[in-house]
Amino acid sequence: MKYNRRYFLKTATKAGLALPLASCSKALKKNNIVIDEQKLIDICNAPVLKPGFLKQPVLIESMDLLRLGDTYFVRTRSKDGIEGISVTNNKIDVLYPILLKLIIPFFIGKDARQIETLLEELYVYKSNYKMQGLALWCCVSWVEGSIIDLLGKTAGKHISSLFGVRIREKIPVYVASGNRDNSPEEEIEILQKKIAITGAKAVKFKVGGRMSRDKDSIPGRSEALIELSRKILGNKITIQADANGSYSIQKAIEIGKRLEDINAYLFEEPCRFDNIEETKHVADALDIPISGGEQESSEYRFRKMIAENVLQIVQPDLHYYGGFIRTTRVARMAEITGKPVTVHISSGNAGYAEMVNFSSFTPNIGLFQELKTGMEVTADMFEPPIQVKNGLLNVPAAPGLGMAHAEYALKNAVLITL
Ligand SMILES: [Mg+2]
Repeated sequence: MKYNRRYFLKTATKAGLALPLASCSKALKKNNIVIDEQKLIDICNAPVLKPGFLKQPVLIESMDLLRLGDTYFVRTRSKDGIEGISVTNNKIDVLYPILLKLIIPFFIGKDARQIETLLEELYVYKSNYKMQGLALWCCVSWVEGSIIDLLGKTAGKHISSLFGVRIREKIPVYVASGNRDNSPEEEIEILQKKIAITGAKAVKFKVGGRMSRDKDSIPGRSEALIELSRKILGNKITIQADANGSYSIQKAIEIGKRLEDINAYLFEEPCRFDNIEETKHVADALDIPISGGEQESSEYRFRKMIAENVLQIVQPDLHYYGGFIRTTRVARMAEITGKPVTVHISSGNAGYAEMVNFSSFTPNIGLFQELKTGMEVTADMFEPPIQVKNGLLNVPAAPGLGMAHAEYALKNAVLITL
């Protein structure tokens, strides 16, 4: 029975199908596969990348931070003159000294093919591990992304060939607003407009006051929004709710039951994100899958939350958690316990593109990924350009991260120095 449920979810996920909401949700909740934790440790210690087709060293000659308007790029140039490019998130405004002082200098002259070993060494270099958290891992992710792009371009292969097999061309997305200061009626109207523009089959809205110790943003808003959402959006739209750590155990269970009553698909960060014990208590009390992990920066805590079934849907952020390699380890830990991964997307970047690239080779990617705003700046840099159509984003096909046209755009960029 367990296998059948798992197979059903996996097959449906690969096909990008919308499942009957209640059956999908409950299957996920009960689908947890208990395994020896040593297997999770083995996954974290196993190599992720497959750069074997690069026979010659790819020596890093330079690595620069560039700004074009409000968007920042890391450009890694090899001795052969090939350029790998990644886009940062909006934390760069305050984090660039860490990137320029503690991260970039380590990579000059190194062989990019050794990226996994280099990342281990970087963690100890200049005692970087003492800074572990979003500040460090964001910077690592920007450098890692540009090196992966460089490796892909050098080999003439898309990132999916470096990590596994390209198994998806289109990624189903959900729309979200992030609002907490409007009425339930206004919020539903906003989501309806987004559905009409994108063709998305799923939405996510905010509940609670955001890290607010049970206080709602507007008294009664969350309860009313939950009820109204199903009434107005109907049964064909998948509904998800994000509390951003708003609740105590008791209030989270109360709100979670309301979400179960409308057959919502997931309940995200019901309790404070770093309170694993409270989140576990809530997960055990509810049928609805609990999701989380966007703020998590520790491999050990991800392992614990997966092994102990604290989360049923795992949501690492490709920037906050340090890039594709580390995030793939989380996805692989989740996979052998029967859990899907839906990456969180941090603001102000090309996160939508990293998400589709990651989804293209990750077998246990979740039913829907977030459609983050901000595509207008960088979507045309990809080949083919990334577009949303009928609720689906296309995966770029060009080598590396698929940003075939970034080099030309960056001719007008400004070099950022300390
Ligand atoms: Mg969230």
